[in-house]
Amino acid sequence: MTGHAPARGVTDSFPSVAAFVAAERPESPVHLLRPRRLEALARDFVAGFPGDTLYAVKCNAHPLVLWTMHRAGIRHFDVASPMEIARVVECVPDGTMFYHHPAKTPGQIRLAWECGVRFFAVDCVPELEKVAALTDATMRPVVRLAIPKGSGAVYDLSTKFGAVPDVFEATLRRAAQMGLKPAVTFHVGSQCLDPAAFRLGIEMACASLDRTGIAIDWMDVGGGFPAYYRLTQAPPLSAYFEVIAQAHHELTAPRGIRLACEPGRALMAEGGSLLVRINLRKPDAVYLNDGIFGGLTETYWGKDQLSLPFRLLDAQGRLKNGPAGSFAAFGPTCDGNDKLPWPLDLPQDAAEGDYIEFNLIGAYGREMAARYNGMHSDRVAVIDADFAGHQAEEIV
Ligand SMILES: *Cc1c(COP(=O)(O)O)cnc(C)c1O
Repeated sequence: MTGHAPARGVTDSFPSVAAFVAAERPESPVHLLRPRRLEALARDFVAGFPGDTLYAVKCNAHPLVLWTMHRAGIRHFDVASPMEIARVVECVPDGTMFYHHPAKTPGQIRLAWECGVRFFAVDCVPELEKVAALTDATMRPVVRLAIPKGSGAVYDLSTKFGAVPDVFEATLRRAAQMGLKPAVTFHVGSQCLDPAAFRLGIEMACASLDRTGIAIDWMDVGGGFPAYYRLTQAPPLSAYFEVIAQAHHELTAPRGIRLACEPGRALMAEGGSLLVRINLRKPDAVYLNDGIFGGLTETYWGKDQLSLPFRLLDAQGRLKNGPAGSFAAFGPTCDGNDKLPWPLDLPQDAAEGDYIEFNLIGAYGREMAARYNGMHSDRVAVIDADFAGHQAEEIV
């Protein structure tokens, strides 16, 4: 099967990256989306996870991404801002939203409520009381538990959000006292390399439920499922699903708790790539048209943990595969820090006007790009062909 109907609002659809490069030779960076791959990945995830899969909109809020998630069967969305809420309302009117930001303004809460949001994350009593005061008894507080540091994730999210067990239990008790039906969530941290972190979260949540005697019907084990970058050493997603299913069976199933999760990265990373141009070649360095202040921001934070697979194309879109050398890679701004954290092994004949396609950047690529030095590209093109992760070839 080749091709798909062009998505609404996205007119630029190309059979392959080669065709796109040959047609346009873009001088600005381009975010490439592969809806076919995205849909397949999302379907696999939804089928494998032992509960409901929410999509964490922050990792890529492009309308085509939301439509594709919907096509893959996803009906629940984790949102954290008015913009993300508006995007879901517009693109997925039958979606259920979970406002999983634990520090909200009154205006944000009112707007979310008016847009039909009923699930609101809270990680302390004051936030719970704030949301409760602006909503009614049908509001579902989702109390967020912090997972101890060092539980296996590249990014620790519990230093910022999530309640320690005492506060978690106090917040659950207060919710019950107010006549609300609390649910529970946690986030083990993004790019979590150890499935056991999810079991730990479920165990901790269940221990708190035991201590408080509060019954819940919904537990969201968060995101954090990994994508498989060049140096990632993590078990396959199926191992995560097994650990979670086992913990659910042993610990939460007897209580009738429905499981959910809210991945971003694992659903989205392989669905998008970034096409950058070599603007200048020096003997052992390349100057690119995008860098750590643009679509490659996350590589700065993730360093080797987020080492992206890439390939070199010439200006006609043909793959260049010659003997490789190591090149420092600089971004386009005048900032001395604008350098990729890892050198690129590129064919020695890499030249100005060639393109590098970085793969696995569908999550946290376009969304994190700043406007430093007046440099920003929001150009998105749709590629029908697939891109096989680490292998530098296209499957059509
Ligand atoms: C960012 C975020 C996610 C998604 O995390 P991934 O590591 O991309 O799976 C899910 N839930 C919340 C609350 C988040 O902040």
